[in-house]
Amino acid sequence: MESRFRDLPSVNDVLDDERVRHLVREYSHDAVLELVRSEIDRARDVIRNGHSAPELNTLVEAIRERAESGWRRLPTPVINATGVILHTNLGRAPLSDDAIEAMRAASEGYGDLEFDLETGRRGSRQGRVADILCQLTGAEAALVVNNNASAVLLGLAAVAHGKEVIVSRGEAVEIGGGFRIPDVLRQSGATLVEVGTTNKTYVRDFEAAITDNTGAILSVHASNFRVAGFTHAPSLRELVELGARSVIPVLHDLGSGCLLDTARFGMAHEPMPQESIGDGASLAFFSGDKLLGGPQAGIIVGRADLVSVVSKHPLARAVRIDKGSLAALHMTLVHYLKDEATTKIPIWRMISQSADSLSKRAAAWQSVVGGPTSVVSGHSTVGGGSLPGETLPTSLLSMDGTAVPGGATVLATRLRGCTPPIIGRIEAERVMLDPRTVPTHLDDALVRGVIESL
Ligand SMILES: *Cc1c(COP(=O)(O)O)cnc(C)c1O
Repeated sequence: MESRFRDLPSVNDVLDDERVRHLVREYSHDAVLELVRSEIDRARDVIRNGHSAPELNTLVEAIRERAESGWRRLPTPVINATGVILHTNLGRAPLSDDAIEAMRAASEGYGDLEFDLETGRRGSRQGRVADILCQLTGAEAALVVNNNASAVLLGLAAVAHGKEVIVSRGEAVEIGGGFRIPDVLRQSGATLVEVGTTNKTYVRDFEAAITDNTGAILSVHASNFRVAGFTHAPSLRELVELGARSVIPVLHDLGSGCLLDTARFGMAHEPMPQESIGDGASLAFFSGDKLLGGPQAGIIVGRADLVSVVSKHPLARAVRIDKGSLAALHMTLVHYLKDEATTKIPIWRMISQSADSLSKRAAAWQSVVGGPTSVVSGHSTVGGGSLPGETLPTSLLSMDGTAVPGGATVLATRLRGCTPPIIGRIEAERVMLDPRTVPTHLDDALVRGVIESL
């Protein structure tokens, strides 16, 4: 064992390697030295476990690998060929060119973020975005925060702390990533009062649960699942009537914040914030980066007195939106004002692509790639906690996994190893790539990666 330790290259041996010297030039001596030491420590453990000492080349490659994966750009840009338009793990909505430019400009220098250019005094970062949100949704007032999870938490804390909040049993749900309505309610300091059953809840269930200590009625959109069959839920309008009679605010968590009617695109109708306000919701909550197609943000619209209470709550400062996201959100909303959402906002462009253009792109990929591939028809999904079970017809490049030793899993792994990585989906020993979520400027990179991987 002692001799194996003697075989281990020294820190200086590793630092002398040309590839490591290159890393030192690119980063810094101290940063690289730390990696070298930790890699040699790891090698000592390997020896202690009875293995032989790794060679210099192995150590250097491991160090290079760690520098590459830890220090290169975050996130690594990837080609999303899954056909899932709002892929939460891949960053949800890509932004429009104008929104990216607004975000870049906001990040580059100083701006009148919270400064009134006329008076020279302090201003609000909320005003201009709130005005547009009111115009688009018909609400009296609006507030934007870091994301929708924080919007809901903040809204409940401000409106219902120390009080009871009535929720249908079928809506006390988990949205994903640990966001569970009962937990959020507890964190806000409100008490959950569940009414009805998992499949059927009536207005009379809500009515029977109202006490002197009721702070709010909460309605939550079932974003990522669907209850079918023998079901009933009161409409928002019915809950609003009940709330009005009992002087209790009705809060509506919409999830996706869809400002366009999805039925226009051949899908089920997704609830819209303007409908929620039209039906009389006291406050409506939704995300900026789901079907709105903007940056991560949480949006609260509704009654002016309640939005004012929410804005003044101490948590509002803790979940404040940052200037880059605010700039991108503002520009995304301007696309809706200008009635250009379907041409400018990437997710709406993806949703509205014609079956014909998708089949042409899949065929163009296939004609270059050849080999064990074919074009098949399939379905894209919207994803990201909206429109569960809804699909859009598409054409896919289907790659036969059995053409590769190890099958479709190995093929998918090779595709993820490309530069940029290509993410597809596996269906019955085939890897499927959907052109719907691949911007056309990445077609060449995709085709190159597919050829290499096969
Ligand atoms: C997605 C979603 C949330 C969380 O929104 P984020 O913007 O991801 O924080 C909350 N409620 C519902 C109903 C959702 O669909």
